[in-house]
Amino acid sequence: MKELILKAGREKSLLRRHPWVFSGAVHDVRGNPAAGDTVHVRAKDGRFLGHAAYSPQSQIVARAWSFREEESIDAAFFARRIRAAIAARADIGGTDALRLIHGESDGLPGLIVDRYGAVLVVQCLATGAETWRDTIVDALVAETGVANIYERSDADVRALEGLETRVGVLRGEVSGTSLVMHENGLAFHVDVHTGHKTGFYLDQRDNRALVRELSAQREVLNCFCYSGGMSVAALAGGAQRVLSIDSSGPALRLGEENARLNNLDPAKTEWLEADVFAALRQLRDQARAFDFIILDPPKFAPTVQFVEKAARAYKDINLLAFKLLRPGGLLMTFSCSGGVSADLFQKIVAGAALDAGADAHILRRLGPGSDHPVAINFPEGDYLKGMLIRKIEI
Ligand code: SAH
Repeated sequence: MKELILKAGREKSLLRRHPWVFSGAVHDVRGNPAAGDTVHVRAKDGRFLGHAAYSPQSQIVARAWSFREEESIDAAFFARRIRAAIAARADIGGTDALRLIHGESDGLPGLIVDRYGAVLVVQCLATGAETWRDTIVDALVAETGVANIYERSDADVRALEGLETRVGVLRGEVSGTSLVMHENGLAFHVDVHTGHKTGFYLDQRDNRALVRELSAQREVLNCFCYSGGMSVAALAGGAQRVLSIDSSGPALRLGEENARLNNLDPAKTEWLEADVFAALRQLRDQARAFDFIILDPPKFAPTVQFVEKAARAYKDINLLAFKLLRPGGLLMTFSCSGGVSADLFQKIVAGAALDAGADAHILRRLGPGSDHPVAINFPEGDYLKGMLIRKIEI
């Protein structure tokens, strides 16, 4: 039998159904498991803790598939988990694009599956998901009826597992940039071949809808706009003008195409290729002002080691945003850094407001849509946090 025996006292997290086993917790590896093999994880006293995928190269040396001893990890298991994940999303309407499998939170560690209409995009981020890839893809086809599957296993985290990048068509046909998804009456080009993540920031769906609700008559500044999801939402919501900034030329061009695709008035849009940190300073020096500013930067702190540097970056852009906001104006500000908690993020933004001499109210706390659930036993899944803030006059 292939087994991981944990050090005494290190069984606690698995007993709480947290799926990760760190290498430092392991007392003994028995039965010579290969990478990706399913092992029984046991406490020092022999108690069964879980069935897990072994990943000897990673600091997360095993990820639990199941905490039930009687469950076998086989094709039927993956079909059950995939079916459950799909059922959990049955009430998400108004879109043909959504995340079907959200890794650990759906009981499938290291597996991401996004649906864009007639195409599924799969990401295997850990050795276990990698090992079961063909079984998983068969189950996805059977459970969704979608025949076209594309793989985007090119995220940096694969290196931590000792896995190489792999990208390409797994089943059927995927034509790439011509892919169009539909969300709440808006259409978006999605580049599943080379776009960020699997091609689109599906996690921001609810917040795009909120941007649309709040944009009427407002002059909007959308920073880190990527392919213009928020910009299109703002224009569709009746924004007076939208200035969209990103450092990526291809992303901006896709944004422009997305505005065109939705028949939005090009005279109301400006797409600026620039570094947001510099551009915000320039706008400040030009004494520009906006009614609604969106800050949705990339992950500044993938892990806690980067928190201090990330905090400075978040503070910088939020401070400048407070300065550029008209009194009564709205700020929608996000952090998708796993290493920055919602609490810390609020403190950083509060510090930015203070230094900008602005007073502000938090109107709403924001997170991802329900297709990106956070399992209650897996706080690491809680990566995206945001606030909707109104600048008030002191
Ligand atoms: N808000 C987007 C997602 C943002 S992802 C959406 O809803 O779809 C972060 C974006 O920030 C990426 O498009 C990346 O190209 C851009 N980016 C990263 N660093 C940047 C910088 N310093 N200045 C401008 N854009 C930057």
